[in-house]
Amino acid sequence: MRLLLVDDDELDRMAVVRVLQSPKLIKDIVHASTAVSALKLFDEGTFDVVLLDYRLPDMECLEVLNKLTQHANKHAAVVILTGMVNDEAIEKECIIAGAQDFLLKQELSQRHLTKALVHAQARHALNQQLMETYARLKYLAENDPMTGLSNRHYFEDHLRTAIARAERFDSIVGLLFLDIDNFKLINDSLGHDTGDQILQQVAARLLNVIREGDIVCRLGGDEFAIIVHDIETETSLATLAQRIIDNLRIPITLVQTQHFISCSIGISTYPNCAQNAEDMLKHADLAMYHVKRMGRNGFHFFTEALQDRVMNKIVLEQQLRSGNLQSQLLLYYQPVINAKDFNVCGAEMLVRWNHPLRGILPPSEFLDDIEELGFLSAIDIENMHLACRQLAEWRASGLVDESFVLAVNASEQLIKEEIFKISSSPIWTI
Ligand code: GH3
Ligand code: MG
Repeated sequence: MRLLLVDDDELDRMAVVRVLQSPKLIKDIVHASTAVSALKLFDEGTFDVVLLDYRLPDMECLEVLNKLTQHANKHAAVVILTGMVNDEAIEKECIIAGAQDFLLKQELSQRHLTKALVHAQARHALNQQLMETYARLKYLAENDPMTGLSNRHYFEDHLRTAIARAERFDSIVGLLFLDIDNFKLINDSLGHDTGDQILQQVAARLLNVIREGDIVCRLGGDEFAIIVHDIETETSLATLAQRIIDNLRIPITLVQTQHFISCSIGISTYPNCAQNAEDMLKHADLAMYHVKRMGRNGFHFFTEALQDRVMNKIVLEQQLRSGNLQSQLLLYYQPVINAKDFNVCGAEMLVRWNHPLRGILPPSEFLDDIEELGFLSAIDIENMHLACRQLAEWRASGLVDESFVLAVNASEQLIKEEIFKISSSPIWTI
């Protein structure tokens, strides 16, 4: 055992040396008479135990103790020696600060001191193991093992901290939500291992692009988030997003093969677009989704209009699934005028949605969503039936004759489905 003995009283130090001589437990005792010299020796050498006098001339004991126990790369058990009898408060303070034991100089015997040093060293070793395990568990809980970036759980902590800081300093935080385009194709065509390596390269490139202090996290799958502090204007976020897009477009070389990727980025800011971390993430995700819809490979800021669109889609889906939508659709018939004689020669059927909250909406506000939800061909067919019935009524009442043409709009989805039905039937009638 290598011991650092720190006491300004030489006689006290000699007493300790005498007590420790016979069991030959200690291989080496290094003496220090001041805190400063002790800390210097501790810094330069390697010790198993520090035996530290409570009263030193140049520094408070707790300060020395903190410097020893919180040293960046040196670890040793610390045992405090004191001449004061029965001061439980001080004893407790030292133990809380990391000392392994607290001994009275008056009670030092060979057996007592030897036992105390051996136990202190064992306790310290156990403590170290515990701290290392804790650090490992903490790392695993907070980081994504594949890329080494913070994981989703820790990202939320980071974002909450960033928002609290922005609130205090009246500054702006930006959030970039990034998703790689068509990543499933990479996995399917090149294998999961190559996919993993590409994700690692993406992580490394993102770390290269950001400013010091900003944070990159992997939220899961092919999704990444970047928290940007202290933004002056939203333009700087747009510049960063474009820089990331350009950077990820540079081919990724793995085993002499180049792989090409692109990404879609949604952006939200605090306090402009959201008041808390949850909404900020949700809004950046929405904006990212918008980029995907618009063809991928780009960035978009969250806007209220996007939010309205999503709310619209949610209401639309509810109405569709509950079977209420059809009764809310209104069929408008726009007359077609013959240019020669200016008579009405037909009509075009156009659909409107009588939204329960927003009133009558044009097709541009809901048809794409119905198509995305996969209901458009069914709606088209039902509308065509209604239009045909309307035409039959007009004819029966003599309002129009056989020459009156009623035009209806059919979606790409419906046409594809009908062509598929025709082409897969045994006899082609087209
Ligand atoms: P999009 O352009 O719409 O984003 O399409 P995408 O193909 O990228 O699909 P999406 O983002 O919805 O799905 C991400 C895919 O990433 C799903 C899964 O196959 C793959 N993935 C998720 N986690 C991992 C991983 O740890 N390693 C690898 N190699 N692939 C992963
Ligand atoms: Mg993706």
